[in-house]
Amino acid sequence: MADHDKLLQRALKFIKPYRVTDGKKFRLKDVDPGDTAGFKAEDKPRAKEALADGVTLLAELQDKLYAQDQWGLLLNFQAMDAAGKDGSIKHVMSGVNPQGCQVYSFKAPSAEELDHDFMWRCLKNLPERGRIGIFNRSYYEETLVVRVHPEYLAGQKVPKKLITKRIWNERFEDIRGIERYLSRNGILVRKFFLHVSKKEQKRRFMERLDNPEKNWKFSSADAKERGYWDAYMEAYEDMIRNTATPEAPWYVVPADNKWFSRLVVAAAVIEALDSMSLHYPQVSEAKLKELEIARKILEKKE
Ligand code: ATP
Ligand code: MG
Repeated sequence: MADHDKLLQRALKFIKPYRVTDGKKFRLKDVDPGDTAGFKAEDKPRAKEALADGVTLLAELQDKLYAQDQWGLLLNFQAMDAAGKDGSIKHVMSGVNPQGCQVYSFKAPSAEELDHDFMWRCLKNLPERGRIGIFNRSYYEETLVVRVHPEYLAGQKVPKKLITKRIWNERFEDIRGIERYLSRNGILVRKFFLHVSKKEQKRRFMERLDNPEKNWKFSSADAKERGYWDAYMEAYEDMIRNTATPEAPWYVVPADNKWFSRLVVAAAVIEALDSMSLHYPQVSEAKLKELEIARKILEKKE
């Protein structure tokens, strides 16, 4: 247990520089995508060991979350293509019980989804109490891709009268409201922006082209989106500045080194679960009596 406490303290200290709870002072240029908090390339094996310890602790906390069945946790992942969303989700959640975890990937909205308000498809897929829900892209796309491509907004069925220059601030306000509502209901929200550099994204795209086993991951649409890099960075910065709150912080995770970004994500998930002070359900006096009777019966019989 002492080990766990130590691990926990380490995790909490580790994530501090990447957590944004008040966006007012946030500037994206202050975060270096290549940051590794002093870890060097030769420390990679040590970082991998730390991740394995983190994954074990996370699994234990998730077991209590599930058993207690009161709190829920929503993790939103946002990033440019090839920043490592899929890999982070896979590695960080590798130890958790699949029954207690739900992953949803949000793509361009379908005709049915466009027939509703933008939150509808996300609200429908929120995690139940006792579970961890992961959004691989989320309602935040409505302030990112939709902002970078005004034609997407024009293609939605939002009444024209409501599309004014205030629309992004209105969306931020609504998102903040919904996240506050969720946290007041015991569904905590944590948001991750995996911040990869433009240079590293190019390297990863080239790798997808060069390596036959990675060819399937390459999409020319992704390469096209790269052309809007600066507009995306502006949209990300404005989004974080407007939606980072104490109850639903953003983690701006340096993502040029996958082994490092996974460590930050794991530590942040541990922090969120730890903040719930989870424990296994207490058994009532009546239940204890029932258990004692069951023991006697079992002992008597073969
Ligand atoms: P990967 O490429 O790693 O498999 P991905 O998350 O990029 O994962 P894709 O199917 O490539 O998945 O892309 C999903 C696309 O859907 C993204 O380009 C994203 O911007 C777009 N998208 C998501 N939500 C919306 C939205 N509300 N409106 C328009 N486009 C959206
Ligand atoms: Mg993609």
